[in-house]
Amino acid sequence: MNIHEYQAKSLLRSYGVSVPQGGIACTLREAKEIAETLTGPWVVKAQIHAGGRGKGGGVKIATSLEEVDTLASQILGMTLITPQTGLQGKLVKKVYIEEACAIEHELYVSLLLDRSSSRLIFLASTEGGMDIEEVAKTHPEKIIKVTLDPVVGFQPFHGRQLAYGLGLKGDSVKDLTRLAKGLHKAFVTLDATLMEINPLVLTKDHKLLALDVKMSFDDNALYRHPEIAALRDLDEEDVTEYQASQQGLSYIKLDGTIGCMVNGAGLAMATMDIIKLYGGAPANFLDVGGGAPRERVTEAFKIILSDPNVKGILVNIFGGIMRCDIIAEGIIAAVKDTNLNVPLVVRLEGTNVALGKEIFAKSGLSIISLDSLSEAAQRIVQYVKEAV
Ligand code: GDP
Ligand code: MN
Repeated sequence: MNIHEYQAKSLLRSYGVSVPQGGIACTLREAKEIAETLTGPWVVKAQIHAGGRGKGGGVKIATSLEEVDTLASQILGMTLITPQTGLQGKLVKKVYIEEACAIEHELYVSLLLDRSSSRLIFLASTEGGMDIEEVAKTHPEKIIKVTLDPVVGFQPFHGRQLAYGLGLKGDSVKDLTRLAKGLHKAFVTLDATLMEINPLVLTKDHKLLALDVKMSFDDNALYRHPEIAALRDLDEEDVTEYQASQQGLSYIKLDGTIGCMVNGAGLAMATMDIIKLYGGAPANFLDVGGGAPRERVTEAFKIILSDPNVKGILVNIFGGIMRCDIIAEGIIAAVKDTNLNVPLVVRLEGTNVALGKEIFAKSGLSIISLDSLSEAAQRIVQYVKEAV
C-alpha cells in the first residue's frame, strides 16, 4: 500500500527527520488558512500517488498569498499527467502547502528491501531530484549502496558511509546519520517496503530537509498497523482490486479477454502463461486462495465479469485442501447467481475430481470440463477468438 507525500512527511517527522512545515488542503479556503500560518514563500504541491508531479505542473512556488490562491485554484481539481500516471492522468483532490526553502543541492536517499540479498539496503546519490532510474542506468557509479546486516541493524557507521559518499561535511555528516537512523527506525517499526526521499535537500543555510517522501508498506503486515491502514486513499486505488482484497481474493486486472479463476499464485501465473502460449491474453490474475468457500467463488466470478473485456473464463483449480465436488458446487452456484453468458472452461484436478465432474455433467449448464490444462487453455482461447 502506498500513501501520500503529506502523510509520509508527517510520519517521518515523528521519527525525528526534518521536513518543511506544511498543511494539507482540500479547498481554496483551507489552502489560504494554512498559507497564513506559514512563512512564505510557499510551495503548492498536488497530492497524488505518482511521482514526476513537478514536470507535470503539480508542484509550484508562490511568492505571495495571492499567488498561493491562484496556484491552488489551478492545481486543485486538475487532471495531472506525469510519466507515472499514464495518459489518462489523475484528478487532484488535495494540495499540500508548505514553506519553501532555498536549495543548495538536491540529494537522493532511500531505504528498501533488496530481495536478491534478502536485506535492507540504503541507496543514495548526489543526483537527487531527478529520475533515479535514469541515473542508475546512465551513471551507476553515482548510486551509493549500503547494505544492512539484520543481526546488527543500523549502526552509525552506515550513516557516515552514506554521508561521505554524498560528499557531506561538518555537521551535515551528523545530520545525515541521524536522518538515516530515523528512516531505518520508521521503516522497521512500520513494516515498510520502501521509504524514498527525493529530493533530500541541503539548504543554503546547511540544513538537511526531506522535500519529497514516498512510502510503501507491506500489505501483509497492515493488520498490525491500523494507524497506517487508515492512511489508505481509495481514490488512488483500483476499485475492483480493493473490493477483491476485502473478500480475501488477490485480483489484478490485466488487459486481455480471458478471465482466470485459479487457486494459488503459482498456478495462477502458470495459467496466464499457458493462455499466452496458445495465443490468448489473460484479463486478470486471480488467486481465490485455499479452501475458497462458495461465497468467495461467486464473488470471484462477479469480479471477473465486472470487466467488460472478458469474453470467456478459464477456471483452473487444484483441489487439495478443498475437495473438487465442493468447488464444482461453488462454480455452479456462481454461474447461476451471475447469469453467466460467456463460455466457461473448467479444469479441476485433485481430491474427489470424479465426483466434481459428475456434478458438472448433471448440472445441465454448458460448462466445458476438461482434464488437461493445455487442452483447457486451447479451448478457451478458441472460444474467445470465435466470439470476436
Ligand atoms: P515530484 O516531481 O513528484 O518528485 O515532486 P517533488 O516534491 O520532488 O518536487 C519537484 C521539484 O520541485 C524538486 O525536485 C525541487 O526542485 C522543487 N521544489 C520542491 N520544493 C521546493 C522548495 O521548497 N524550494 C525550491 N526552490 N524548490 C522546490
Ligand atoms: Mn520527488
